[in-house]
Amino acid sequence: MTSTLPPTLSTSETTASPPSLGGRPVESRDPATGELWQSFPTTSAADVEAAVTRARQAQPGWAATPLGDRIRMLRRFHDVLYRRRHEVADIITRENGKPLAEALSTEITIAMDFANFYAAEAPRFLRGKWRTGATMGMMRKRVKILHDPYGVVGIISPWNYPFMLATVEIFPALVTGNTVLLKPSEFTPSCGAMIGSLFAEAGVPADVLTVLQGDGSTGAALSGAPVDKIFFTGSVATGRKVASACGSRLVPCSLELGGSDAAIVLADANVPHAARGILWGRFSNAGQTCVAPKRVFAHADVYDELVSEMSRIVGALRVGAGSSVDSDVVAVIRPSSVTTLTEQRDDAIARGGRVAASAAAPVGSTGSYFAPTVLVDVPADAKVLTEETFGPLLPVVKVRDDDEAVARANASTFGLSASVWSRNTAHAAAVAARIQTGSVTLNDAIVSPGMVEVPHGGVKSSGIGRTHGIAGLEECVRPKAVIADQFTGWRQAWWFGYSREHADGLDAFVRLAHSKSVLERLAAIPAVVRLLFSPRRPL
Ligand code: NAD
Repeated sequence: MTSTLPPTLSTSETTASPPSLGGRPVESRDPATGELWQSFPTTSAADVEAAVTRARQAQPGWAATPLGDRIRMLRRFHDVLYRRRHEVADIITRENGKPLAEALSTEITIAMDFANFYAAEAPRFLRGKWRTGATMGMMRKRVKILHDPYGVVGIISPWNYPFMLATVEIFPALVTGNTVLLKPSEFTPSCGAMIGSLFAEAGVPADVLTVLQGDGSTGAALSGAPVDKIFFTGSVATGRKVASACGSRLVPCSLELGGSDAAIVLADANVPHAARGILWGRFSNAGQTCVAPKRVFAHADVYDELVSEMSRIVGALRVGAGSSVDSDVVAVIRPSSVTTLTEQRDDAIARGGRVAASAAAPVGSTGSYFAPTVLVDVPADAKVLTEETFGPLLPVVKVRDDDEAVARANASTFGLSASVWSRNTAHAAAVAARIQTGSVTLNDAIVSPGMVEVPHGGVKSSGIGRTHGIAGLEECVRPKAVIADQFTGWRQAWWFGYSREHADGLDAFVRLAHSKSVLERLAAIPAVVRLLFSPRRPL
């Protein structure tokens, strides 16, 4: 099978050395059929090292490029993506399996939103502003915080949102002056190649963005290479390996890892709305979304209505290929995902759980289909409640009150996101405040990573650091303070030349700055004036 997209290492046609076959080629298969339709050479460890060296050489030039030019690059990327959106959507659907509607909305539109957001926000963020020192002792000073790029950053991406998750990390990295090495998932290499092609068309120079195709061994080579920061999105198990590779070199890393998000349906919820929203969040992208609601905790007063409403909706879902415009739920990425989901479902049933509703999967298909399933009566130790489920499988648990719902939601090693469903926003917000996650959405699901201004990330095993929003820019830079004195040549009050009078003057300064008594502060002023203006022991 031949590639229709360039299997090149770099976005540039002029990149020096061609990739070597470090291992088995990575293969792009259509999840709806299992058909192999693209393959790309794996980048060897030696080629990763060479690409890092070239990115290092290109970085000072890129950082010295006027900010306006880097911003224009983002705007051009937006325009190129807008023009080529149908081509890109076809590739995402073909390779990841998601419906075309989701490729356009949850991947392409969001990527364009983020390109615009970072183009608009980068100048304000990077410009910096002189400010007067904030404390009485430092009022002579002026401070400006500069934001230096890390240098060369590696971005290691998963396959579930192969276009959006990679691009929204590339934008802030490039606009702040870093050069970037992107390692796409081995399951979605065509999306990786497409990203390289779009940035090249937007005018990103050779070696400023390099796409390194390959599997985990290429990712491991990148996280062990002399880069300045790694942005990793993927599973907890791999995140630990990346963190330890970075830790051994004291290189920072941002980790966006798995989740087992709770959806809490309160007694005052609009139940039909909650059922529709939770099922969309859970089953869209075939349930392969990090921030999908994966455990539902429903108040006893609304539990029966919720399960019955969900059963009705599940019965009406259409399961089929993403390329068919009326498929709601599609195939999961690989047969191995079907195996894992089947084990998790069967474990719940073996422990006393029941299938409340299940949609029909296509009969006789060669694709990786798992029938969307709602489970009830699942005990707390079942895998569907303790592990991450990455597919269309949803347990619904009855709880007696808000306290139990919050306790059950927090009884997880994960802490990525959550949702709370209620007609009363104040009630929902009070419950949201008690949930241990990086974000909580009220009366909607999985929207948080699609909102440009929202910092994205988790607590506990769900990760370290934040991407997206202004936090996404902050993660790409090292803050550097420049501190200036407004009265150069005037000795500081605390410099050498100590004496009894000098110590008394400093004590008066402490009283003026920190005494709670206004009288004591006023009384200290003459001694502070003497400290500042009287001649001191010459040095
Ligand atoms: P994964 O950990 O298997 O792979 C992620 C990436 O890491 C791939 O590019 C892979 O090739 C690479 N990799 C594998 N071994 C490596 C190693 N030793 N060193 C460096 N890189 C290595 O994850 P996945 O199956 O692609 O993605 C699914 C997981 O990602 C789920 O757990 C999901 O919840 C999580 N996820 C999290 C977020 C988030 O924002 N928090 C977003 C999307 C997906």
